[in-house]
Amino acid sequence: MLFANFRFGLGWVLAAVVPAFASAADLYQITAERRVEIGGKEVDWIDGDYVLSNDRLIAVVANPIVGRDANMTTRGVGGCLIDLTRTGDMSDQLSAVYPTAQQFEFADDALLETEVSDGEVRLSITSSGSQRSSATARVEYRLRDGDDFIEAKVTVRGDDLAEIATACSVRADRTFQFDRMTVDQNHVAYFTDAFFRQTYGITTVKEQSSPSTWDDQRARRLTFDLDSDRRGERTWTMRLYPAASLSDLAGSVLNAAPQTVEVTGAIGELPRIELSVSPIDDSPTLPEVATDQSIYTDGVGRSVLHLPAGKYNLVASAIGHRSTSATIDVSQRPGNHSIELGPATRIVATVVDGSGQTIPAKLTFIGVDGTESPDFGPDTADGSIRDCVYTTGGKTIRSLPPGDYDVVFSHGPEYDAEVQRVRLRPGEEATLNVTLKRVVDTAGWISAELHSHSSPSGDNTSSQLGRVQNLVCENIEFGPCTEHQRIDTYEDHLDESGARDLMATCSGMELTGGPLPINHQNAFPLRWAPHQQNGGGPRTDQDPITQIKRLAMWDDEADKVVQINHPNLNQMARDKDKDGTDDGGFASMFQFADVIEVHPPQAIFDDPDELSDADLVDNRMLQWMRLISEGQFIPGVVNTDAHYNHHGSGWLRNWVQSSTDDPAEIDIDEMTRHLEAGKVIMSTGPFMTLSLNSKEWEKAIGVGDTATLAGDTTELAVKVQCANWLDIDRVEVFVNGRRVPELSRRRQTHPDAFADGVVKFDQTMPVSIDDDSFIIVAAIGENQVLGRVMGETFGQLPPVVVSNPIFVRRESIRN
Ligand SMILES: [Zn+2]
Repeated sequence: MLFANFRFGLGWVLAAVVPAFASAADLYQITAERRVEIGGKEVDWIDGDYVLSNDRLIAVVANPIVGRDANMTTRGVGGCLIDLTRTGDMSDQLSAVYPTAQQFEFADDALLETEVSDGEVRLSITSSGSQRSSATARVEYRLRDGDDFIEAKVTVRGDDLAEIATACSVRADRTFQFDRMTVDQNHVAYFTDAFFRQTYGITTVKEQSSPSTWDDQRARRLTFDLDSDRRGERTWTMRLYPAASLSDLAGSVLNAAPQTVEVTGAIGELPRIELSVSPIDDSPTLPEVATDQSIYTDGVGRSVLHLPAGKYNLVASAIGHRSTSATIDVSQRPGNHSIELGPATRIVATVVDGSGQTIPAKLTFIGVDGTESPDFGPDTADGSIRDCVYTTGGKTIRSLPPGDYDVVFSHGPEYDAEVQRVRLRPGEEATLNVTLKRVVDTAGWISAELHSHSSPSGDNTSSQLGRVQNLVCENIEFGPCTEHQRIDTYEDHLDESGARDLMATCSGMELTGGPLPINHQNAFPLRWAPHQQNGGGPRTDQDPITQIKRLAMWDDEADKVVQINHPNLNQMARDKDKDGTDDGGFASMFQFADVIEVHPPQAIFDDPDELSDADLVDNRMLQWMRLISEGQFIPGVVNTDAHYNHHGSGWLRNWVQSSTDDPAEIDIDEMTRHLEAGKVIMSTGPFMTLSLNSKEWEKAIGVGDTATLAGDTTELAVKVQCANWLDIDRVEVFVNGRRVPELSRRRQTHPDAFADGVVKFDQTMPVSIDDDSFIIVAAIGENQVLGRVMGETFGQLPPVVVSNPIFVRRESIRN
């Protein structure tokens, strides 16, 4: 069955819903009663914004009010174009087009006017201010039925226009290429992202001069060559085209008819079919840069291309498939064409656990014996990413080039990993049935990642669905959504992935203010207000104390976890200006903090006596223990802060104590309580349990617990377990932040203390306590790495696990 489980990009299936009003130009303000369905990775509309649509495209102009931001880094977008895509095959990848290159602000909705007539809509907005000029600007958007573009006419009026650049600017990040091409006589500035099937073109109307150059700022400025100013007035009119590809854009500019190309014969999920078109004779006037670009088809193998009349050679290819070619005749009328891919080389994989149930898995394909590792898609994608495949359902059909591969199957560190070597000859299918056993006993603990990002965060362009797949396939059992500057949710993606019962989640956010790195905090759960600015979340503040307090008090002071992210702990605790003298730091932040990021965990093994002052100050683990010894205990956590999807999540995690081991039953309130209490183990993979016991106590106590002791003798039980791809060779006990040398255990010096099965270490050690104390245990594979399961970068890290403290109070001391 072809195209089974076929998905492409982010939720395009839902997005392909064509609104009923698409047959005529329409304009309306988005309200709770009338919202809009737009597909794509960079959709930013909220209630209050304006939709302009015709029979071909849909655009959103952001509500011109103070504080209208598209995301953390695309700000002040009032009156600007924030979403733009074709109606048929939506893939909005636009962050924003600023028609006046941010030289004017549009933040007064009283200065907005709309006009709807038969087959044409207009929205105009006058500037409410400018940082650099006393002039005013007016932008008029116009959309007519039958047009493949939306027009934006900018009129600037004022006494002195010399300071005003004739320019717009664009936010379309990372995977976009910016350049210019000439189509027939037309100068077309473009920005294009082939993989996500979105290209935008900007032309000016005929009488005017052309768009000239893009600068290389983050908001790319496009300056127009303009002949002259009329007295006190300057006007430029842009036409903005959304298109699927550069050739499609060129054809649209030439007013060519749409040609639908259907590619059949693709195997499995995400074949990512590429088309190329080249004119057979010279008659069609497509620029070379356009015909050189690969055109990716949508999720069902279809691509709509505006092509000038003529004869074309069409080549269809997809990874692992034999390419095919065909000749097509294109007239001036819309047409349909089809082409069938050649046979595919592929693997059919099923991953089950020890009970035979399919489980989510990550498959990493590593080329061996001269075969190159495959490249299935960019690290911003979902599903198949670079050399990895995420399958939340545990089954996948993956086409790939013939050759020899090691396929690494994994599902996080509680499960054994398996490597299968496979030789694929052209056109062959290999069946890989893999059982990954859950060998590590984590009863009473669930694993959590408390800090992740994707495209809505505004500083990256990763698919959020890909983030969720990454989390689920790494067996993260609790993952709150923590995008920058907006409350958001993972629930729709969990549903889409059939993984709702596999990972508990809740809405949350990261507040990312300045100064760095002090003023970044996560909080969850937070009440999500869909389609509102920041998802209903608070704004940042320049003062870290004000900001963290605001976050902690949000939602009517409802209980939540407030997490300080990647702090400079010495600066926070005692040295605000980092001049080396104690000035009290930002220490009052601590009263609002529930947990604090202290990664990297391996830094706990650094010997404080051998570190330079600067390195000691930067060592979060040692600074964290220093804080605890000073009476300031904030539980430690470790998180990936992942921004991209290729092994982004999974290589750091927290095991949090839980009354249930079933993710579907996880109680978010209990997570909050246990995180706040420090019932947390931090790890790159190894799992550790520890308990402290005394004859004086009825039962042993664990991390986050406190007990009172009259005598001075306790026994510490430490157990470390690892799946088959991890190992540890050293265990250390820290009392009051200092390593206790007599309790040091190394495989080399204490071979009997270590074993080679799943249980690497299971020892009870006497710990004498002669003061109020906190005990932390850490284990590491000093000469080990996480290896191929975690990819080339994170795979270099050591297996390491660090506990939160157990507290003992000495009765005699306190009396
Ligand atoms: Zn972050």
